[in-house]
Amino acid sequence: MATLYYEKDVDRSVLEGKTIAIIGYGSQGHAQAQNLRDSGFSVIIGVRPGKSWEQAERDGFAVYTPDEAAARADVIQLLLPDEKQPEVYRTQIEPHLTAGKALFFSHGFNIHFGQIVPPKDVDVVMVAPKSPGHLVRRVFTEGFGVPALLAVHQDATGQAKALGLAYASGIGSTRAGVIETTFREETETDLFGEQVVLCGGVTALIQAGFETLVEAGYQPEIAYFECLHELKLIVDLMYEGGLANMRHSISDTAEFGDYLIGKRIINDEVRREMKKVLAEIQDGTFARTWILENQTGRPFMNARRRQEAEHPIEQVGARLRALMAWQKKREDVPVGR
Ligand code: NDP
Ligand code: MG
Ligand code: MG
Repeated sequence: MATLYYEKDVDRSVLEGKTIAIIGYGSQGHAQAQNLRDSGFSVIIGVRPGKSWEQAERDGFAVYTPDEAAARADVIQLLLPDEKQPEVYRTQIEPHLTAGKALFFSHGFNIHFGQIVPPKDVDVVMVAPKSPGHLVRRVFTEGFGVPALLAVHQDATGQAKALGLAYASGIGSTRAGVIETTFREETETDLFGEQVVLCGGVTALIQAGFETLVEAGYQPEIAYFECLHELKLIVDLMYEGGLANMRHSISDTAEFGDYLIGKRIINDEVRREMKKVLAEIQDGTFARTWILENQTGRPFMNARRRQEAEHPIEQVGARLRALMAWQKKREDVPVGR
């Protein structure tokens, strides 16, 4: 069983009187910074001049370049896009990482794959909210918090874990529960989840289902509803109460079809492929491909974004969503029937 931490496990004093620099004021940056400030901690922002800088100032923060913020802070949380972090780290953060400071992350990629190698005499900690940034903020303002993962890569001061827990409490996560993990486990499972299930798996499944129906002569609008639109309703039920709750709500016909067919779609060949994907994440093949892609101006990403935007499911979807003004108010429509 995983180790879980809650409010009772937090010693806030390890973070009191310290300055926290949030580097980057995007999705996670704005949310974590505002939550920590509302929790009574001292927060400054480090970004380059531009949109984020102006937003952080409007939100009432003292804003500096990453370089200056890192110099002023005791705890430095890197919340730039992962592929930008190594360069900013090398040029602006590392020079200010004096002994006893703490370097924080919300994702393990750059530490785990050696793109950032901090000096041995600083704490290196991950507090990774399991949620998009805007929810990290909204759920906090509603008096609760999103769950988070906590990992310690380096404990130079002997207080790294306590510091991580205090930080997690500052963003609201100990109200929900903080799960202890490692940089390796977080990185590899995060990549696997998004590639195989959440993003790569789901989008490919939707498109394959849609294409099969359309190629067989069914109307694209109907195919869109059956293979994409209804997915949200199904996922909501799974989110609320697991697969069993979803199967309880759908019709018996849908449930029978689920049991009969699911494993023919996600068959042994697909499972073998999943294992290969996991192996490529574990041995660094994926990381190398992604790093090279960024170093060469993202030729594959750019081409695929263009191709995907032209897929018929996007055209029909845009048309249908424009017609569905009722969509937001009627999320309780029956599913699977
Ligand atoms: P965003 O893409 O939202 O962050 C962009 C921010 O970084 C902006 O403030 C941008 O400023 C700034 N920035 C970009 N390049 C530079 C640069 N060269 N120098 C200075 N500032 C720069 O990032 P996320 O919040 O999505 O991700 C941050 C971290 O959190 C990542 O490690 C990610 O894996 C992790 N994470 C993200 C989640 C999410 O929901 N998004 C969930 C959990 C973890 P500007 O406006 O000037 O471009
Ligand atoms: Mg991810
Ligand atoms: Mg149906």
